[in-house]
Amino acid sequence: MALTLPDLPYAKNALEPHISAKTLEFHHGKHHKAYVDNANKLLSGTGLEKEDPEKILKEVAGDVSRIGIFNNVAQAWNHAFFWNCLKTGGGGRPTGKVAKQIDADFGSYEKFSEDLKNTGVTQFGSGWAWLVLKSGRLEVMKTANADTPVAHGIKPLLTIDVWEHAYYLDYQNRRPDFLQAVIDNLINWDFVNSRLG
Ligand code: MN
Repeated sequence: MALTLPDLPYAKNALEPHISAKTLEFHHGKHHKAYVDNANKLLSGTGLEKEDPEKILKEVAGDVSRIGIFNNVAQAWNHAFFWNCLKTGGGGRPTGKVAKQIDADFGSYEKFSEDLKNTGVTQFGSGWAWLVLKSGRLEVMKTANADTPVAHGIKPLLTIDVWEHAYYLDYQNRRPDFLQAVIDNLINWDFVNSRLG
C-alpha cells in the first residue's frame, strides 16, 4: 500500500477549545481515512502503488482521466501535513528563522497573519490556505478542493484546511473565527521552521 493513515501527533482533545475532539474524531478518523482508503483502491494496479505520494501528484496533475487519484492522494497528503502544522499552545508570533523571513517578506507578523486569514476566508468553497516558499520568498496562497502546492513544485511550509468539515461542528458558518483561532492558538511554528530548514 502506498498510503497509510498516520496517527494524530497529539491526543484528540489536545487542540480544544479551538478544535474539538469531536471534530478531530471525524476529520481524522473518517474524512482523512476515507481519502487514504480511496487513494489506495484507485492506485491498485496502476503501477504507482509504491511511489512517493508527491511524485504521484506531479505525475497525475492535470490528467482528467486520473482526477480521482489526484484528489484522493492530494487530500491524504494535505491532511497528514495539516496535522503537523498544529499543536497545543501554538500560534501567535513565531520565533526563529521563519520570524525573520516573515518580517522580511510581509513587512510584519500582523500583515502576514491578516493575509493568511484573508486567503482562507476568500477561498470560495472548499480548499486550503497556505504559507509557501516560492523562489526563496514566503508567500500565502490558496488552493481549491484537493489541490496542493506540492503538485506544482511549490514548497508548503504551513496550511489551514478550510473545508467545512474542518470547522463546521465547532464554528458552523464562521470560517473567519476558525482561521483566527488557529492562527492565534494552534500553529506549530517549530514544524514550520523545520520545513524552512
Ligand atoms: Mn479536511
